[in-house]
Amino acid sequence: MTREQAIHRREKLATQLSSATEALRGSLLQRTIRHSSGCLKCARGEGHPLWVLTVGYPGGKTRQVSLHPDQVPQVRKALADYRNCKRSLEAISELNQFLLRLDREQSKEQERKP
Ligand SMILES: [Zn+2]
Repeated sequence: MTREQAIHRREKLATQLSSATEALRGSLLQRTIRHSSGCLKCARGEGHPLWVLTVGYPGGKTRQVSLHPDQVPQVRKALADYRNCKRSLEAISELNQFLLRLDREQSKEQERKP
């Protein structure tokens, strides 16, 4: 890979970061709430389906956000945006690492020349 190719790839990846405004980290879970008594639905064994966004933090902490069913498609997309942005950012970082090494190689070559 040449310097020009690396810079071109880096720019293409950076355009994908425009979806970062919607990015959401975490995972989507579906739970079923069951009341122990006094609920006909639960007595029939149906329960109440509930969507929850769970987000993990360092130290093993997690936060849970209950979602309205209407929010689920939006949350799914936001989670995908987060993963895509993260992947692009990692790839940009790898390219920048490559460019750092390339710069160092070139400055060493310059020093060797009389
Ligand atoms: Zn119930």
